[in-house]
Formats: sequence, C-alpha cells, structure tokens
Amino acid sequence: DAGNDNKEVYKVGIDTTYPPFEYEKDNKYVGIDVDLINAIAEDQGFEVKLEAMDFKGIIPALQANQLDIAMGGMSITEDRKKVVDFSDPYFDAGITLVVNEKNNDVVKPEDLKGKKVAVKKGTSGANYAQSIEKEVGFETVLFDDSPSMFLEVKNGNADALFEDYPVISYAIAQQDLGLKVVGERLNEDQYGIGVLKGEEQELLEKINKGLENLKESGEYQEILDTYLAE
Ligand code: GLN
Repeated sequence: DAGNDNKEVYKVGIDTTYPPFEYEKDNKYVGIDVDLINAIAEDQGFEVKLEAMDFKGIIPALQANQLDIAMGGMSITEDRKKVVDFSDPYFDAGITLVVNEKNNDVVKPEDLKGKKVAVKKGTSGANYAQSIEKEVGFETVLFDDSPSMFLEVKNGNADALFEDYPVISYAIAQQDLGLKVVGERLNEDQYGIGVLKGEEQELLEKINKGLENLKESGEYQEILDTYLAE
C-alpha cells in the first residue's frame, strides 16, 4: 500500500463553458466529465488537478506535456487519433445545426448558402462547417467558446451554428437561449478521454478500467442521471 501521500496527480484539461459536461457552479467545476474523471481517479487510486482552458488549447497543451489528460466533451476523431490515444467511448453525441428560434428558412446545411455560420475553434463542429462551406457557399466565423457562439446567433449577427446535440439541447432546456435545433444529428461522434499518443499506455489502461468499473457499479449511470434526468 503506497499510502495516500504517494498518489500520482494527473493534470486534466477541461473546457469549462460546456455544460452539462463541464462548467463552473458556486466556484467549483462540475459536470459529467468532472464527476467521471474524479470517480475514475478514486477507483484507480490517482488524483486529478483540473485546468480550465479554451477547447482549442487542450490538445496542444497535452502535446506540450502541460496536461496528462484531455477532457472536454471531446469527440474521438481520426484526425485527433494522430496525436491522442483515446479511452473507450463514454458518451454518444453528434453535431447538429442550430438557428435563431425566429428563423424558419434554414432547416438543413444546404440552406446556408450566402449565410454566416458561427463555430467554435478547434471543434468537430468547426471542421464540419469548414468541410462544406465552399460547396454550400457560406461564411464561417470562429469563436473561442460556446456561449459567445450562441449569443452571436441569438443577436442575429450570424445565421446558424453547429454544436454537439447534448450540449445545445441542455442549454436550451436550462435557459432562454433564443435558439432552436433543426434537423437530425449530422454525425455520430462519441466522446473519449484523451492522453498523449504512444506515451501513456499505463494511464490509459487505468482510465479504461475505471470507466468499466463505474459502468458495472452503476455509478456511471448515476453521474449521467445527475445532469440529464428530466
Ligand atoms: N465534441 C466536439 C469536439 O470534440 C466539441 C467539444 C467542445 O466544444 N468542448 O470537437
């Protein structure tokens, strides 16, 4: 028994303007990702130190060895797998198109011709927008965080945005955002917990083992229910 004093402390980069996955409440970080990584750490006998940053900074910080773990409602993508090893998927998300609640003209990405589309830097939503912007013929404007992007469409400065379905539907249910989701989910992104590629097999195994234990014990479901019930 190594004892409490010898526990490894891993730095976890999180995007703290991303409820229900990670956000600040009463001066504390809370959310599904926060509870999950704390529970995994507890189960596997390590400690975590949470570091708030813009989403776009998380993977670069991991690569610069300033972080050990990347979390942030982070989708497992082929591109990211070039520099990140991901845990087993822990949440099914997928991006969706969002417009001002008064907008009835845009119901699918093809309707964005000549429009302005807000996206968040470094996200799969931004990648998706940039992959179709030429073909459809719209302009993309970039933001550092989701709340600023939401405001841009609410205020009519942009016509639409792309955001992860669970995040935008949670935000709409929690507050009067002035936005609505249109159409189906546009992909089947799944979230994973990331570590630096090729360097952290032991840590990755602990994360996966912890995740599995939490699923078996029911604690994983309890965490989801805490934020998603209703
Ligand atoms: N799931 C999206 C991605 O991984 C968005 C994450 C986020 O904005 N925090 O790119």
